[in-house]
Amino acid sequence: MIKKIDHIAIAVSDLNKEIEVYKNIPGFEFSGTEVVEEQKVTVAFFKVGDIFIELLEPLSDDSPISKFIEKRGGGLHHIAYEVDDIKNEITSLEEKGIRMLDKEPRVGAHKAQIAFANPKDFSGVLTELKEKGE
Ligand code: ZN
Repeated sequence: MIKKIDHIAIAVSDLNKEIEVYKNIPGFEFSGTEVVEEQKVTVAFFKVGDIFIELLEPLSDDSPISKFIEKRGGGLHHIAYEVDDIKNEITSLEEKGIRMLDKEPRVGAHKAQIAFANPKDFSGVLTELKEKGE
Protein backbone atom coordinates (compact mmCIF):
# COMPACT_ATOMS: atom_id res chain seq x y z
CA MET A 1 0.00 0.00 0.00
CA ILE A 2 1.14 3.53 -0.65
CA LYS A 3 1.76 5.27 2.70
CA LYS A 4 2.46 8.89 1.83
CA ILE A 5 4.27 11.24 -0.49
CA ASP A 6 7.98 10.94 0.27
CA HIS A 7 9.36 13.56 -2.08
CA ILE A 8 8.73 15.70 -5.11
CA ALA A 9 11.65 15.94 -7.51
CA ILE A 10 12.50 18.92 -9.69
CA ALA A 11 15.09 18.84 -12.49
CA VAL A 12 17.51 21.78 -12.54
CA SER A 13 20.51 22.66 -14.68
CA ASP A 14 22.40 24.70 -12.06
CA LEU A 15 22.10 23.04 -8.68
CA ASN A 16 24.20 25.51 -6.66
CA LYS A 17 22.21 28.43 -7.94
CA GLU A 18 18.89 26.74 -7.11
CA ILE A 19 20.13 25.71 -3.64
CA GLU A 20 20.76 29.38 -2.83
CA VAL A 21 17.24 30.28 -4.02
CA TYR A 22 15.54 27.57 -1.93
CA LYS A 23 17.71 28.25 1.15
CA ASN A 24 16.18 31.71 1.29
CA ILE A 25 12.62 30.44 1.42
CA PRO A 26 11.28 30.26 4.98
CA GLY A 27 10.11 26.70 5.76
CA PHE A 28 12.60 25.04 3.42
CA GLU A 29 15.23 23.26 5.51
CA PHE A 30 18.38 22.35 3.54
CA SER A 31 19.56 18.87 4.43
CA GLY A 32 22.49 18.26 2.14
CA THR A 33 23.42 16.87 -1.24
CA GLU A 34 24.27 13.42 -2.52
CA VAL A 35 25.75 12.07 -5.75
CA VAL A 36 23.73 9.10 -6.99
CA GLU A 37 25.91 7.42 -9.61
CA GLU A 38 23.24 4.87 -10.54
CA GLN A 39 20.93 7.68 -11.66
CA LYS A 40 23.70 9.98 -12.94
CA VAL A 41 22.52 12.88 -10.79
CA THR A 42 23.50 15.09 -7.91
CA VAL A 43 20.56 15.55 -5.56
CA ALA A 44 19.95 18.37 -3.07
CA PHE A 45 17.39 17.75 -0.34
CA PHE A 46 15.10 20.26 1.30
CA LYS A 47 12.74 19.23 4.06
CA VAL A 48 9.36 20.93 3.89
CA GLY A 49 7.05 19.75 6.69
CA ASP A 50 7.44 15.99 6.59
CA ILE A 51 8.19 15.60 2.91
CA PHE A 52 11.24 16.44 0.84
CA ILE A 53 11.78 18.53 -2.23
CA GLU A 54 14.65 17.04 -4.21
CA LEU A 55 16.51 19.07 -6.79
CA LEU A 56 18.13 16.88 -9.46
CA GLU A 57 21.11 18.04 -11.48
CA PRO A 58 22.51 15.77 -14.20
CA LEU A 59 26.06 14.45 -13.68
CA SER A 60 26.66 13.97 -17.39
CA ASP A 61 25.10 14.51 -20.80
CA ASP A 62 23.82 10.94 -20.96
CA SER A 63 21.89 11.33 -17.69
CA PRO A 64 18.11 10.94 -18.13
CA ILE A 65 17.83 14.30 -16.35
CA SER A 66 19.92 15.96 -19.11
CA LYS A 67 17.47 14.71 -21.70
CA PHE A 68 14.52 15.89 -19.61
CA ILE A 69 16.02 19.39 -19.25
CA GLU A 70 16.80 19.53 -22.99
CA LYS A 71 13.24 18.60 -23.86
CA ARG A 72 11.31 20.51 -21.23
CA GLY A 73 13.72 23.03 -19.77
CA GLY A 74 13.60 21.48 -16.30
CA GLY A 75 10.80 21.63 -13.75
CA LEU A 76 8.66 18.98 -12.06
CA HIS A 77 10.27 15.61 -12.75
CA HIS A 78 8.56 13.03 -10.54
CA ILE A 79 6.55 12.36 -7.40
CA ALA A 80 7.70 9.62 -5.05
CA TYR A 81 5.48 7.62 -2.74
CA GLU A 82 6.75 5.72 0.27
CA VAL A 83 5.87 2.04 0.48
CA ASP A 84 6.69 -0.66 3.06
CA ASP A 85 7.51 -3.50 0.74
CA ILE A 86 8.54 -2.37 -2.73
CA LYS A 87 8.65 -5.79 -4.39
CA ASN A 88 5.15 -6.50 -3.20
CA GLU A 89 4.00 -3.06 -4.37
CA ILE A 90 5.47 -3.53 -7.88
CA THR A 91 3.52 -6.79 -8.21
CA SER A 92 0.36 -5.29 -6.82
CA LEU A 93 0.41 -2.26 -9.18
CA GLU A 94 1.16 -4.48 -12.18
CA GLU A 95 -1.83 -6.61 -11.26
CA LYS A 96 -3.91 -3.44 -11.44
CA GLY A 97 -2.66 -2.69 -14.94
CA ILE A 98 0.00 -0.09 -14.08
CA ARG A 99 3.06 -0.53 -16.31
CA MET A 100 6.24 -0.45 -14.23
CA LEU A 101 9.40 0.87 -15.92
CA ASP A 102 11.38 -1.01 -13.24
CA LYS A 103 10.26 -4.59 -12.71
CA GLU A 104 12.91 -4.91 -10.02
CA PRO A 105 13.83 -2.25 -7.43
CA ARG A 106 17.08 -0.34 -7.88
CA VAL A 107 19.19 1.81 -5.58
CA GLY A 108 18.32 5.49 -5.11
CA ALA A 109 19.52 8.26 -2.82
CA HIS A 110 19.99 7.32 0.86
CA LYS A 111 20.34 3.67 -0.26
CA ALA A 112 16.58 3.46 -0.68
CA GLN A 113 15.04 0.86 -2.97
CA ILE A 114 13.17 2.61 -5.75
CA ALA A 115 11.13 1.72 -8.85
CA PHE A 116 9.49 3.94 -11.44
CA ALA A 117 6.07 3.51 -13.02
CA ASN A 118 5.16 4.58 -16.53
CA PRO A 119 3.98 8.23 -16.45
CA LYS A 120 1.24 7.30 -18.94
CA ASP A 121 -0.47 5.38 -16.15
CA PHE A 122 -0.24 8.30 -13.68
CA SER A 123 -1.77 11.23 -15.59
CA GLY A 124 1.52 12.04 -17.31
CA VAL A 125 3.56 12.25 -14.10
CA LEU A 126 6.61 10.04 -13.64
CA THR A 127 5.89 8.16 -10.41
CA GLU A 128 8.39 6.55 -8.07
CA LEU A 129 7.86 3.96 -5.38
CA LYS A 130 10.36 4.14 -2.56
CA GLU A 131 11.16 1.79 0.28
CA LYS A 132 13.38 3.52 2.81
CA GLY A 133 16.96 2.35 3.15
CA GLU A 134 18.95 4.02 5.93
ZN1 ZN B 1 12.87 10.40 -6.47
